[in-house]
Amino acid sequence: MSNQGGRSRAKQRAKERLEKQQDIFRRKNNLLKEIRKYNDTALSTVCDPLLQSDDKSFIDKMKKILLLSENGVRISANQIGITKRVIIISPDRKTVKVMINPEIIDHSNETSISVEGCLSYPGIITQVPRYNRISVEYVDEQFNRWMDDFEGLAARIIAHETDHLNAICHNRDEWIKNKVQ
Ligand SMILES: [Zn+2]
Repeated sequence: MSNQGGRSRAKQRAKERLEKQQDIFRRKNNLLKEIRKYNDTALSTVCDPLLQSDDKSFIDKMKKILLLSENGVRISANQIGITKRVIIISPDRKTVKVMINPEIIDHSNETSISVEGCLSYPGIITQVPRYNRISVEYVDEQFNRWMDDFEGLAARIIAHETDHLNAICHNRDEWIKNKVQ
């Protein structure tokens, strides 16, 4: 009797564990579905500056989606359908840096060519030349103004995302080229 009770309790716990995992999976999937893809109009829209008085709740959603994504190191607001000038970078995929109204105000003369992917064009990679070093002016979530220098991977991913804010994406160009062929 007691044995049977123990077994049914264990069964119940296993069922609850499974349901919890399914719930996490479902929520994760629903968030990832918010990434706009291919010819979504948000991706071809030049984004507006974010004002201090604007609703900023979408920024937390961007952080979640970026960290949930597979291999994602950066995301722009219009990649989740919000056409505001906000990007989040995560070169290490652990910490995130929010950059609002980023503006590349200076850059090195030297460029490097490297492969880039994009959350909005899964499976499409393309070689893109980028400046090795850039100076970026932006505000943080508290609207403090910053001017920072970035190099290497960080410079590359900021350049990719500021392109998105200006409705530019080399991965989209590559996707269109592949479609036409
Ligand atoms: Zn992209």
